[in-house]
Formats: sequence, C-alpha cells, structure tokens
Amino acid sequence: MKLHEYQAKQLLAAYNVAVPDSQPVATGREVLHAAERLGYPVVVKAQVHSGGRGKAGGVVVAESPAEARKASARLLGTRLVTAQTDARGLPVQTVLVEKAVVATRELYLGLLVDPSRKQVVFLASACGGMDIEQLATGHPGGLATVVIDPLTGLLPYQARALARALALTGPLAVQAAQFMRSLYRLFVEKDCSLVEINPLVITDTGELLALDAKITVDDNALFRQPEIAALRDDSQIDSLEQEAAKAGVSYVKMDGSIGCLVNGAGLAMATMDLIALLGGRAANFLDIGGAADEQRICRAIELLLDDADVKVAWVNIFGGILRCDMVARALLRVMRERHPSIPFVVRLQGTNASEARDLLASGPMTLMLEPDLGRAARLAVAATGATSQKRGGPAS
Ligand code: GDP
Ligand code: MN
Repeated sequence: MKLHEYQAKQLLAAYNVAVPDSQPVATGREVLHAAERLGYPVVVKAQVHSGGRGKAGGVVVAESPAEARKASARLLGTRLVTAQTDARGLPVQTVLVEKAVVATRELYLGLLVDPSRKQVVFLASACGGMDIEQLATGHPGGLATVVIDPLTGLLPYQARALARALALTGPLAVQAAQFMRSLYRLFVEKDCSLVEINPLVITDTGELLALDAKITVDDNALFRQPEIAALRDDSQIDSLEQEAAKAGVSYVKMDGSIGCLVNGAGLAMATMDLIALLGGRAANFLDIGGAADEQRICRAIELLLDDADVKVAWVNIFGGILRCDMVARALLRVMRERHPSIPFVVRLQGTNASEARDLLASGPMTLMLEPDLGRAARLAVAATGATSQKRGGPAS
C-alpha cells in the first residue's frame, strides 16, 4: 500500500527526520488559510500516489494569495497525469501546502527490499532531484548501494559510507547518519517495502530536510499495522483492483492486450512468461486461486471483460482442488449474459477437464479450446494480431 507524501512526512516527523512545516488541505479556502499561517512563499503539492509530479505540473510555488488561489484551482479536483500514471491520471483530492525552502543541494536517499538479495538495501546519491531515474539507468555508478544485515541493522561505518556518497562532511554527515538510522528503524517497524526521500536537501541555513517522501508498506503486513492501514486512500487505487479485492480475486494490471484468468501464482507467472516469449503482452492477470466457487469465477471473468484494454482473453486453468467443469459453467454463464465479442482461448487441464470440454463444446464460436499450453499461448498471441488488424492497426 502506498502512502501519500503528507502521510509519509507525518511518519518521518514521528521518527525525528526533519521535514518542512506543512499542512494537507482539501479546499481552496484551506489552502489560503494554511499559506497564511506558514507564510509566503509556499509550495502547493498535489497528493497523488505517483512520482514525477514536479515535471507534470503537480508542484506549484505560490508567492502570494493570488498565486495560491491559482495553484489550488489548477490542482484540486483535477486529475494529475505523470510519467508514472496511465493516461487518465490520478484524482487530486488533497494538496499539501508547504513552507517553501531554499535548497542549495538536492540529494537522494532510498531504502527498499532488494528481491534478488532478499535483503534491505540503502541507496544514496549526491545527485537527487527530478532526474534520478536517468541517473539510475545512465550512470548506475552515481548511486551507492549498501546492503543491510537484518541481524545487525545499519552499522555506523555503513552510515558513514552513505554520507560520503552524498558528499556530506562534518555536522551534516552526522545529521545524515541520524536520519539513516531513523529511516531504517521506520522501514523495519512499519513493514515498509520502500522509503524514498527525493530530494533530501541541504537548505540555505545549512540543514538537512526531507523535501519529498514516498513510502510503500507491504500489504501482507497491514493486519499488524492498523494505523497504517487506516491511511488507505481508495481514490488512488484502480477501481478494477478494488472490485477484484472485494471479490477475493488477485488482480494485476499490465499494459498489453491479453487478459489472463489463471489459478495460482506459479501458473500466472508461467502464463506471463509464455506470452512475453511469443512477443505478446498481457493486459492483466486475475488469479482466482484454488478455493473459488462458480460465483467468484463469474465475477473474475466479468472483471477481465471490464478492462477495456483486453482484446483477447486467455483462460488458463490447471484444476487441482478447483474443478474445470465449474470454470466451464462460469464461462458459459458469463457468455450467455454478456455476449462478449472478443476471442477466448481456453485451456483447461486437470480435475474434470474432459467434463469441462464437453460442456464448452456446445458454447459459442468465439471460444477456442486448446488443452496444450504452448499451442494455447500461440493462439492467444496470434489472436491479438488478428484483432488489431481488424481495427486497422498494425499487427504487432
Ligand atoms: P515528485 O516530482 O513527485 O518527486 O515531487 P517532489 O516532491 O520531489 O517535488 C518535485 C521538485 O519540486 C523537487 O525535486 C524540488 O526540486 C521541487 N520542490 C518541492 N518543494 C520545494 C520547496 O519547498 N522549495 C524548492 N526550492 N523546491 C521545491
Ligand atoms: Mn520527489
């Protein structure tokens, strides 16, 4: 679960990491009140679950009440599209009004779980700011990495190495080391998967200040983080993802055109890999798990069809506890009710697969039954070419 910048900064402050004085608000009037209290100039920042807000016009400096009014009119109630959102963007329901800061340097400090090492790593760069992604891809040398042993935590020499990577000396290096210890403690205590401060700035008065904060908390730990769970903002979450969560189905959105209905995470991965190997792209996958009933499978197929990016559906089920005939019945029911026009590639193997195939043999022509995994994948990818040609687009 992602936190908003203002929520992340409240956590940082609770852990003694210095942040600018600020106030989250939801109306134009409150923006003016907050700016008045903080004193101009202020920075008005759109609170959306995305980075890249600065470049997208989501961070506006206001020197006067007139400018603050303009900034809130430009942000509140609109949708912000950034390089990290889809074309619809995310709704701006809250802005953070923050005392503007004069920064002499912008640094980068990040903490995340490195999945290949299975450990927490600290990242630091002396070149923070809005072009950090370019730095990471163009000059990976500009980003120092320190791997943290969970038994020892962040060790003093590691904090010193990170401070050196930030090109900090003297009292600033000491303050940075204190920030790092606090950030690591926050990361572990709050079950984070990401804590990122970009930029961490040195102000004109020679202090370190977290000017931005991005925090992601592991969803699987929310049961023991009730205060964090209460910070959830549903307006920032894909509505299909919310529907899926309600239906008890895991749904992951991607940017291709093949919608995948699978059971089990392993089969989901194999399905994605096969599609990619054959040059196709998945629009999503819905994992109905092992314990789904007919109702839940119907709901999952409907959700798959609700995704406008889906041009081809691939039902790829290996029945174990889950019975294939139940999947077939659900499929037929949705077909009868919704008459989808997109092609469906259906691969059913395992428990009651032959009963399922008998049931589906009487189904509509748009169902392509293919029990072989490789051939089913080729059919699905080929079908995306056929649909894009029909729409006059290039076959890719
Ligand atoms: P992001 O683009 O979503 O990561 O949003 P940020 O919170 O990082 O804001 C984008 C940029 O705006 C930062 O990298 C800073 O350069 C700038 N910025 C934000 N707040 C202030 C401020 O108070 N003073 C100054 N000088 N720059 C700011
Ligand atoms: Mn930032």
